[in-house]
Amino acid sequence: MIAIRDVRVILTAPMGRNLLVVKVETSEPGLYGWGCGTFTQRYQAVRSAVVDHLRPLVLGRDAGRVEELWRLMMFNGYWRNGPVLNNAVSAIDMALWDIKAKCAGMPLYDLWGGKLREAAAVYQHADGCDLAELSDHVRAQIEQGMRHVRIRFGGSAVGTRQSGEVGGLAYGGPTVAASVRPDGALDGAYYDPQMYMRSTLSAMEHVRVTFGNEVELLHDVHERLTPSDAIAFAKQLEPYRLFFLEDALSPEDLSWYGHMRHNTTTPQAVGELFNNPNEWLPLMANRWIDFVRMHVSQMGGLTPARKVATIAEAFGIRTAWHGPGDVSPIGHAANLHLNLVSSNFGVQELQPFTEITREVFPGCPEFRQGYFYPNDQPGIGVDVDEKLAEKYPCDPSVIQWTQARLPDGTLVKP
Ligand code: MG
Repeated sequence: MIAIRDVRVILTAPMGRNLLVVKVETSEPGLYGWGCGTFTQRYQAVRSAVVDHLRPLVLGRDAGRVEELWRLMMFNGYWRNGPVLNNAVSAIDMALWDIKAKCAGMPLYDLWGGKLREAAAVYQHADGCDLAELSDHVRAQIEQGMRHVRIRFGGSAVGTRQSGEVGGLAYGGPTVAASVRPDGALDGAYYDPQMYMRSTLSAMEHVRVTFGNEVELLHDVHERLTPSDAIAFAKQLEPYRLFFLEDALSPEDLSWYGHMRHNTTTPQAVGELFNNPNEWLPLMANRWIDFVRMHVSQMGGLTPARKVATIAEAFGIRTAWHGPGDVSPIGHAANLHLNLVSSNFGVQELQPFTEITREVFPGCPEFRQGYFYPNDQPGIGVDVDEKLAEKYPCDPSVIQWTQARLPDGTLVKP
């Protein structure tokens, strides 16, 4: 038996986002695994869950019994799921899969049955504060080989910068001028849902007219609309033939997806906030959505993600796992291994890695001409330079962007 000898947490922010990765060391000299448990906004809580609760639970146990250990970690605290515990479980679960594949002398995709494709098609945000800037960014992505682009527009409906209206590139489109807020309104990321919908529709029309059908268009609502507005918006987007519309509804409004399905053909992608099977199962079983896009560490790691991919395949639903900057390169590589072996893979969210990040995380997947390529090292294929990681400490500042507000100052889901 190869026993778990130690479990250590590494916190680092080489790209400015707080990342949490875990190293599981074994009784076999030189054999260890890495996993991602990044919950960037509450990373210290995950660190404590790993070090204070899961480490004592798994020390000395058989590192090869991945499913047994996943169930043990999830059930041992009696109360289960939730973002802190799921990320902590994921970090160890992913490291155990890394160890399992290293023991087999195979890349993880080989352990799981072998590649169905050489690389995963990827997409990124194309942002713009006006239509000309948006076009420039879409064009730049097409020139990099991208065939999928996610549109995020921060300008007004007529595509011009207007004083006090353009607030950068947050979700929800243009910010709302201070003059329309009530006296004493609290600080926050102000947006107007109606202005957001108008400006996004005009941006989509502009991109389709400018680039024709040579690129797939994606858009993330970021749960910033009421259910009826979200359904109307999805219907109005139909002429622009989206690849998918992301998080049109919040987890609290999931039952509305049935109405969404019956009212519009715009494909729906959902799931980055999910952390409980009761959130994703009804959506799949009812065939209300087209893509699952859970944040793999947030759902508890590779063990549940593989099962979801298989269930989704049976229902004709594709995968588009969440992959922003607050997933570590180990997590992105894990997503890539899933994507290489899933017949129902849709698209992978790309996070370009900086040079420093590649040095902290040797073995990062490579981006070339619209695709993400794995390396052929055993396991997940990404290591950590622990000494270098220490040079990029996490930032404990209070998170600002999650303080979204409507024009009257009401705090809403971010
Ligand atoms: Mg999203």
